[in-house]
Amino acid sequence: MSAPAAGAAADAHPPFDCSKCGRTVRGQKADDAGWCETCRQELIRHSSRQAYLPAAVVAAAFLWLLWWSGLLESPLMAFWVALGGVLTFVAYKVARRVLFDLLRGRATGDGKG
Ligand SMILES: [Zn+2]
Repeated sequence: MSAPAAGAAADAHPPFDCSKCGRTVRGQKADDAGWCETCRQELIRHSSRQAYLPAAVVAAAFLWLLWWSGLLESPLMAFWVALGGVLTFVAYKVARRVLFDLLRGRATGDGKG
């Protein structure tokens, strides 16, 4: 005995086969590459973790530049450090975005190319 009303919510997102783990997923929406929510979250976690490295490199390079140019001793030092913080944050966001595409390309890129 099935109640048609119970499936009403799931109708918004028809079941699909995740192109990453191959599971049939219900009640979720596939993303651009046809991945389920679990696989996408895992990919985001991976890219977030790996994005720390380029962000740290940017922060170190910026600090080195400040030290090299003598700006660390300038009266605007707080401003430059704040700017470095912003730059590091932007680098982190960009790196995460790039890594996301990169890791996804590696996971789905077999077969063509
Ligand atoms: Zn999946």
